[in-house]
Amino acid sequence: MDKNEIYSEIFEEYQIDKKNAEKNAEKLKNMLYKNVPRLQEIENEIKIKGVELFKSAVNHGDMQKFEDFKNSCNKLRQERQNILKSLGMSEAELEPQYKCKICKDTGMVDTKKCRCFNKRLAEKYYQLSNLGDILKKENFDNFNYELFSKNISEDNISPYDNMKKITKEALFAIENIENEPLNMLFYGHSGLGKSYMCNCIAKELMDRGYFVIYMSAYKLFTTMTNIRFNNGSRQDMDTAKLLENCDLLVIDDLGTEGVNSSTVPEFFDILNTRLRANKSMLISTNLDLPNVGVVYSERILSRIIGNFKVFKFIGSDLRMH
Ligand SMILES: [Zn+2]
Repeated sequence: MDKNEIYSEIFEEYQIDKKNAEKNAEKLKNMLYKNVPRLQEIENEIKIKGVELFKSAVNHGDMQKFEDFKNSCNKLRQERQNILKSLGMSEAELEPQYKCKICKDTGMVDTKKCRCFNKRLAEKYYQLSNLGDILKKENFDNFNYELFSKNISEDNISPYDNMKKITKEALFAIENIENEPLNMLFYGHSGLGKSYMCNCIAKELMDRGYFVIYMSAYKLFTTMTNIRFNNGSRQDMDTAKLLENCDLLVIDDLGTEGVNSSTVPEFFDILNTRLRANKSMLISTNLDLPNVGVVYSERILSRIIGNFKVFKFIGSDLRMH
């Protein structure tokens, strides 16, 4: 699946929503007209009068005719309103109930995409990203800095200030992503908020219309190995396409996947492909940098140092509190 396929899927969904809204409105109207035939008559009369007016306008119609038309239409509309009111209904209820009133479920306003398009796109990305509901909880709006100690600890900075600094850098990288890929590596012990920060960044980018894929290192390397040895399922192939096409790839928990002989070349391949394509990557790992070199090779370490902003997460395990 790539961006174009996602876009056409969204536009297909718009068409379905639009059709449904219009079908339901038609159904409601038919039911109503069956019970109150006068409403049908009113609609027909307004139509006929409209045609008459159009004819007279074409034949240089006079103002009087126009005034007559306006008055009789107003009267008819008033009558319709009264009938509907007596039924406890409004005229607006007879209109198709579109999910978006601005674009009437077309996704477009003039030649531009409607605001609701980005919302749908983000929702699609949430589903495809493998993150789904977790983003409702783990995002920048819900970030609680008070969980982090203000006491200066490692590296002459408090966990609190460190987290503020990382947030600032992350937000800057998000703002700047069109100019420069967001490549960040978070390392540190478990329970210091690395995955949480990854999710915050992922959601922020998806909300801005970027295509994000999240994968644990384990799932990533299993998929890659399956494909390399030609026993990849259809699903694995789809996943490989996503890994290549997404705007941001989040690799969570690097180092916990149980490294084997194929992991290192796979990882090197992904790194290189994405770096060459100027596509962003976000990596979290429990390994410190020297150990990344030991486990995955010096080549990989130098790629990371040369292309990533590296941040250390410090403090004590938040999950203990
Ligand atoms: Zn809209």
